[in-house]
Amino acid sequence: MAKGDNNNGHKRGGYDCCSFCGRSASEVGMLFSGMNGATICDECVERGYDVLQEQQEAKKKKSAKNAPTLRREDVPKPTEIKEFLDRYVIGQDAAKKTLAVAVYNHYKRILSKGVDKVVNDEVEIEKSNIIMVGETGTGKTLLARTIARLLKVPFAIVDATVLTEAGYVGEDVESILSRLLQVADYNVEQAERGIVFIDEVDKIARKSDNPSITRDVSGEGVQQALLKILEGTVVNVPPQGGRKHPDQKFVQVNTNNILFVCGGAFDGIDKKIAQRLNTRVVGFNQGAALHVDRKNLMQYITPQDLRSFGLIPELVGRMPVLTYLQPLDKEALRQILTEPKNSIIKQYERLLELDGVKIVFEDDVLDYIVSKAQEFRLGARGLRSICEAIMTDAMFELPTTGVSEFRITLPYAKERMERAKALR
Ligand code: ADP
Repeated sequence: MAKGDNNNGHKRGGYDCCSFCGRSASEVGMLFSGMNGATICDECVERGYDVLQEQQEAKKKKSAKNAPTLRREDVPKPTEIKEFLDRYVIGQDAAKKTLAVAVYNHYKRILSKGVDKVVNDEVEIEKSNIIMVGETGTGKTLLARTIARLLKVPFAIVDATVLTEAGYVGEDVESILSRLLQVADYNVEQAERGIVFIDEVDKIARKSDNPSITRDVSGEGVQQALLKILEGTVVNVPPQGGRKHPDQKFVQVNTNNILFVCGGAFDGIDKKIAQRLNTRVVGFNQGAALHVDRKNLMQYITPQDLRSFGLIPELVGRMPVLTYLQPLDKEALRQILTEPKNSIIKQYERLLELDGVKIVFEDDVLDYIVSKAQEFRLGARGLRSICEAIMTDAMFELPTTGVSEFRITLPYAKERMERAKALR
C-alpha cells in the first residue's frame, strides 16, 4: 500500500518496514502508512484486533461477575409480589399468596448470613421449595415465570418426564442445572440464586406400591436423584449446549440457594383427597368434615395426598410449600383473553396495529372462544390455538388490503373455526 517515503519513516536496507514488527513490505501482505512515516503491517493490525477483542471479553466477564447482587431492599414484599402477579395472572389467589410468601422468605434467607443453613441464634431457616398442583393450562408455569421476571433472576423450565435415572436413556437429573446455567449465560453465581421450574413432576410418581417388582428408572429412581439437588448440594454440572469451556468438563453448582418450584396436574389426586376426607368422616371430627366443598377438593390437598399419589415421602418433605391452582371457569378464561398486561387479544391488536389496522373482537366472539376452550379441556392453553385458527386468514390478508378497521364477528369466527377443523 502506501509507502513511508518520508525521511522519518521506517526503513530497512532502504525498504519500507512495519514500525511494530520490523518486517519489510516484501515480507508482509500489506503495509499501511500513517503520520510521520509510521507504518503498520496487516498482521500487526490483526494481532492488535485480537488483543482488543480479548480485552473486551475480559471486561464483559468481569462485569457479569460484578452483576448487581441482590440487595435486601430489592426483594419485594409479599404484597408487592402478589400485586405484580395480579397484573399477569388471573385468579389463583391462594397460589399467588403462598408463592409470594415462599419466594420472599427464600430470598430473605439467601440475603441473611451463612451459606448452608441460616443460623440466627437458635433459629434455622431451611430451604423451602414449592410444589404447585393444578390442571394443565391453569397458570403454574406462568406464575413461576412471572416471579422470576419480577426478581430478575435466571429462570429455567425443565420437564420431569425426560429425566431418567443415571445410566439410562434420557437426561440425567443434573441436566436441570445445565439449563439454568445456560439461561444465566454461564454465570455460576447468578445461576446459584435462580429459579427452576420442574414441570410434570407427577409423571415421575411411583408406578406401583411395590417398588421391587420392576426397575422404575423414570419414576422412583429420578425422585431419589432429585432429592439431593432439591435439598442443596454441590453438583458437577455438564455445561452442555455447544459453548466452549476449554479446561473444565464440569461446572460446580451449589443448589443451596436455588429455588425449585415443581408443578404437576396430578390427575386423579382428587380421588385420593376424597378418600382421605371420607375416612375422616368416620372419625370423631364429623362436624368439620360436613363442610367439605365437594366441587373443589383440591383446596384440601395435603402432603399426605402427594404420597398416596406416588411421590416418595423424602421428596415430599423437600417441597414443604404446597399450593394448588383452581380449574379455570368461564369467567376466568374470558378475563385471561382480555385483561392481563400482555393478554392474547391485546397481542393481536398490537400486531395488526403495526400494519395500521384496528382490529375489533365482538363480545360474542370472546364468549365463543371461551366456550370452545372449555370444550377442548386444555385450560387457558386452548385459548391461543383457537384464536390462531380464527385469526390466521385475517393476519394473512389484512397487511395488504389497506383497510383501517376489521371486525371479527361471530359468524366470521365460527366459519374460520369450522374450516380449521376441516383442515385437521
Ligand atoms: P400450566 O399450568 O400447564 O403450567 P401455563 O402456565 O403454561 O399452564 O399456561 C399456559 C398459557 O395459558 C400461559 O401462557 C398463559 O397465557 C395462559 N394462562 C394460564 N393460566 C392463566 C392465568 N391464570 N392467568 C392468565 N393466563 C393464564
